[in-house]
Amino acid sequence: MESKKIAEIMVNIVNTTPTPIEQYLEDYNYCPLCGDELLYTHVTHFGHSLVKEEAHCESCKIKVKNNDHKLQ
Ligand SMILES: [Zn+2]
Repeated sequence: MESKKIAEIMVNIVNTTPTPIEQYLEDYNYCPLCGDELLYTHVTHFGHSLVKEEAHCESCKIKVKNNDHKLQ
């Protein structure tokens, strides 16, 4: 009985502690101001071999990220 309870608590701790990757994905997908899901747009400029990545929050009307990725 006791050992089962400890196991359940440990599972809960594992599930509620975000790994660095999960934390990164959460930062990446959600607005840092209000926590709403970010809307991503990717605009590909084939002529320049660039992908322009933009994320914005509908609620805050802010642009959060603007990364350029060079196509390999
Ligand atoms: Zn927001």
